Amino acid sequence: MAQTAESIGANVFQFFTRNPRGGAAKPVDKADVAAFLKYAAEKGIGPILAHAPYTLNAAGAEPRVREFAESVMIDDLRRLELTPGAMYNFHPGSHVGQGAGKGIELIAAHLQRVVARAAKGGGAISTTILLETMSGKGSELGRTFAEVRAIIDAAEADAAFGSQLSSPLGVCLDTCHVWDGGYDIVNGLDGVLDEFDRVIGLDRLKAIHTNDSMNVLGSRKDRHEKIGKGKIGLEAFRRIINHPKLRDLPFYLETPCDLQGYRDEIALLKGLRK
Ligand code: FE
Ligand code: FE
Ligand code: ZN
Repeated sequence: MAQTAESIGANVFQFFTRNPRGGAAKPVDKADVAAFLKYAAEKGIGPILAHAPYTLNAAGAEPRVREFAESVMIDDLRRLELTPGAMYNFHPGSHVGQGAGKGIELIAAHLQRVVARAAKGGGAISTTILLETMSGKGSELGRTFAEVRAIIDAAEADAAFGSQLSSPLGVCLDTCHVWDGGYDIVNGLDGVLDEFDRVIGLDRLKAIHTNDSMNVLGSRKDRHEKIGKGKIGLEAFRRIINHPKLRDLPFYLETPCDLQGYRDEIALLKGLRK
């Protein structure tokens, strides 16, 4: 993965920890881990961002659904200790009719259990866990900054929680999702970032998913588009990647591209850098 990233001009990359629909992860290849760590250090690649399977639902109504999310995330976090200092992004979850309050409570309890069990015996985990901002399709939680904040507050209400993490919970801002969720990053980027800072705190913002959107502001659809080909548009991306509050963050593409497409988008974005 690091060699592929290097070959297309990337210095960070995101990857799925296993089949994005869930299921078992491949066994760990220790030699491959060692080769990765050496290569990444040589080439200056990182931070890497692991993405949890998107089918997990920590806010599911059925215990079986929640237990599956829990076991997968514990396994992922244990594996990620092999690449210290990585980040781990997950979709907070969908309340599936139970209501936002109940969903937030379930996600916070899930995080507390996952972190406690992943840290067990080994001290604090070195991975930074990120909640992804969502578009709000269906009963998805994490569309509003207030919901993200509520999940963080509820998880951190357990005094032991913070001591099991080397870095506090963070947030990954997905440009397509916040746009589809109703935050106008095209005409009001400063206002959106001020609101993020007021509600969540910009110190929590650790990564950007850099995606254009097929749909209009507030559509709650979550259909990613290639950079500059959607409703967000290239000029907005110029402002996003150069914004003083964002420019030093790692940016991860999740656009519908093949490898050559990613190479072209990286070159396009680098060309917009001031
Ligand atoms: Fe995602
Ligand atoms: Fe995303
Ligand atoms: Zn998405």
